[in-house]
Amino acid sequence: MQMRQCAFCGKRIAAHLNQCPFCREMVPQVHLSRASSGAGRTQIRRGLLYMLLAGVIYYFGAGYAKPLEVPIAIQPAVVNYLAPLVFLGGLGLTLYGLILKAKS
Ligand SMILES: [Zn+2]
Repeated sequence: MQMRQCAFCGKRIAAHLNQCPFCREMVPQVHLSRASSGAGRTQIRRGLLYMLLAGVIYYFGAGYAKPLEVPIAIQPAVVNYLAPLVFLGGLGLTLYGLILKAKS
């Protein structure tokens, strides 16, 4: 059975109850649904994060941060394939999020 905490007395009560059995306060049902509010915002944020990550990979991998040496040797394939792939993935996710947002 799912349990949650009463907002008034802090005791753990069953999630389906509308009233706390300990303090008799009405406990509003909280429905945590990800789809209802801000649909697509998560995707947009994640997509932007991926694009930023791709930029960082490219920046260090291509050697633009010359005085700052990366401790591990980065294969050229990583820069040539992984960075654009991550970037495109992030771009796709961002567009998907925008479409989701436009629909709702
Ligand atoms: Zn209570």
